[in-house]
Amino acid sequence: METYWTTINTSFYDINSNVTTFLLRLEELKRKTQFFWTEGVLSIFDLDDTLYSREEQLKNPLLAENRWKKWNEIILTELWWYDQFVDDYYFTWWITQEFVWMVKEESSLILTAWEFELQMRKIIKLWLDRIKRIIVDDSKEKPLALFKHILSKFEKIPERIVIYDDRVKYLLEKAQILSNLFWVEIEINEVKLKWNEVEQLEKIIFIPKQIEHADMMLALYSLND
Ligand SMILES: [Mg+2]
Repeated sequence: METYWTTINTSFYDINSNVTTFLLRLEELKRKTQFFWTEGVLSIFDLDDTLYSREEQLKNPLLAENRWKKWNEIILTELWWYDQFVDDYYFTWWITQEFVWMVKEESSLILTAWEFELQMRKIIKLWLDRIKRIIVDDSKEKPLALFKHILSKFEKIPERIVIYDDRVKYLLEKAQILSNLFWVEIEINEVKLKWNEVEQLEKIIFIPKQIEHADMMLALYSLND
């Protein structure tokens, strides 16, 4: 089964056409988690405006105007611009004070949405490339990407999942489903940065609910919505 899973995983087929495989893999991870030690707490950090404040860069009117748009289509047509931008605005000592000591190689994950090339440059410049990361195009993809990541990269299910993000809408929508599927508590912290310090922190905890096997399939499908 593991070989079969690996084959499926490398080609990264979508969930809809591989529901049974995903469920089998999930069961396998749960069994391992039950009989062996657990992975401990997994802390997940968003990058922009969570681990790192965009306050300084948004003083640039051109960037501010387009803050929610993909910059490669609007301003940054050349990759050298990314390098210049990251050079000008990203410094390790500006990483959010309250999080800087919490981000640990073995128990943390960066979950960020934006352009892959740009996010990678930021992560490298901030010396955060020692941390495992998931980079998706859109925040909507975060819950499913997290699910797939745990299934494919973890040997056990984490004991608890703690998420920090300044835009939690999509994570909140799917957190109960993830919690039910993994059978773990998921804590979501909505953060707002004031410069590089956390100004406001809201904590929502999702407790896993027992679901029938048939509903597991539905849960998987709805992660994909
Ligand atoms: Mg953010």
